[in-house]
Amino acid sequence: MNSHAKKLSIYNSLKGEKVIFKPLKDGFVGLYVCGPTVYSNVHLGNCRTFISFDMVYRYLTHLGYKVRYVRNITDVGHLVDDADEGEDKISKKARLEQLEPMEIVQQYSLDFHKVMNEFNALPPNIEPTATGHIIEQIEMIQAIIANGFGYESNGSVYFDVEKYNENHPYGELSGRKIEDLISNTRTLDGQSEKRAPLDFALWKNASSEHIMKWPSPWGVGFPGWHLECSAMSTKYLGDEFDIHGGGMDLKFPHHECEIAQGTASNGKSPVQYWMHGNMLTLNGQKMSKSTGNSILPHELFSGENTFMEKPFDPMVVRFFMMQAHYRSTLDFTSAAISAAEKGYLRLTEAMKALETLNLSSVSSVNVNEFVESFYSAMNDDFNAPILVANLFEAVKFINSVNDGKATITAADQQLLQTEMTAFVVDVLGLAQSASAGEDKLSPVMDLVLDLRQEARANKDWTTSDKIRDGLANAGITVKDAKDGTTWN
Ligand code: AMP
Ligand code: ZN
Repeated sequence: MNSHAKKLSIYNSLKGEKVIFKPLKDGFVGLYVCGPTVYSNVHLGNCRTFISFDMVYRYLTHLGYKVRYVRNITDVGHLVDDADEGEDKISKKARLEQLEPMEIVQQYSLDFHKVMNEFNALPPNIEPTATGHIIEQIEMIQAIIANGFGYESNGSVYFDVEKYNENHPYGELSGRKIEDLISNTRTLDGQSEKRAPLDFALWKNASSEHIMKWPSPWGVGFPGWHLECSAMSTKYLGDEFDIHGGGMDLKFPHHECEIAQGTASNGKSPVQYWMHGNMLTLNGQKMSKSTGNSILPHELFSGENTFMEKPFDPMVVRFFMMQAHYRSTLDFTSAAISAAEKGYLRLTEAMKALETLNLSSVSSVNVNEFVESFYSAMNDDFNAPILVANLFEAVKFINSVNDGKATITAADQQLLQTEMTAFVVDVLGLAQSASAGEDKLSPVMDLVLDLRQEARANKDWTTSDKIRDGLANAGITVKDAKDGTTWN
């Protein structure tokens, strides 16, 4: 284990304060993050939450923890109103597109994985799907009923919130009072099968036209959205585990219900540390698919959009996100992403310069202090923006050594290089910049264009056309001009 691991503090949403992190089992961390509901392309807001937890996973790993990171795919049960009413989001999309629900699931799971890969987010260790865990969900419902916290009604099963609240505080995570919740909950049509309006569905009876349904002890139906995460986190991380993450908007009711379900079935509050990432906003409003106030990652990467003048590399977008603390809101603007691009370039250029600095017999600064400042930023509830600021202090130093205004020893140069790489590449996940890819391609392209030039000089048009068309098929356009040939 890294000696800094003992000093990590995490803001626990359940306690409303920062506390020193102590895992249930020394050296191991169980981490569960609510994954996407795969009925549409993930927008940049969704990506922010997943990238924040990727950074958390990376830092825990860097500290030497053996992390089991579970992030699910919600492929059934998430209803249009985010509660118990309306169509299933995936079924609805399937109906509109005249596809099988599983075709929708496949299409958007592939998109999600592609985008995560472009953002250099590491895959979780386990990525369970809700449809793959129907039996576990049924078993959990049976335990909740057996313990007296669930009841069947017309082939559906509901969680009895008021019964639960007699001994456990429902609303403890979101800071809501049950009296307020009760008085704010209207009795909606179709909710009459519940004993009380606040009760939520564990299992819902499926009508004959409903597509995604399974047999259960209560008849044919489908699981409730909140239950999926409880069943899958319990299966892979146990009745009690270390960290549960998700976006702030999932605190209520989703995570509140997860606490209730876990406690009702196992007698223990399931999660030690609840972590919530804040929202990415656009024009000051939460980025959201349903309101149309959203940007898709590929629109930014390709430049095919109406709001930005040029494309942005995924690493620049990731760097932009790392410049805000995961618990603060972050507003996406053209000016902010352009500033992030400049900052990212300054950082990567300094890291390149670091490799070839002139070395001296003394260092004019204490390089260990830089390293300590990197750890203290991240140990303070994963404060990536402070880490970035501290990395820029090191950048300033590197640039002054480069300008001959400061000195560094060989040992310090090694240390700084190792630690900056660890924090920039391993922890912040800023790996290959766009230029890194081009760097490898450039000499190859020089060679290919030379061969094409030779062919043209020999009037071998077949070969020269073959090269041009082959490059075009690979998405590379060659342009001949007076002052030479260019490609992009
Ligand atoms: P969903 O697919 O709707 O279940 O959402 C997937 C994840 O994205 C959840 O953790 C949400 O909290 C998160 N999320 C949704 N909108 C935003 C946003 N504008 N900013 C950050 N996270 C978001
Ligand atoms: Zn969840």
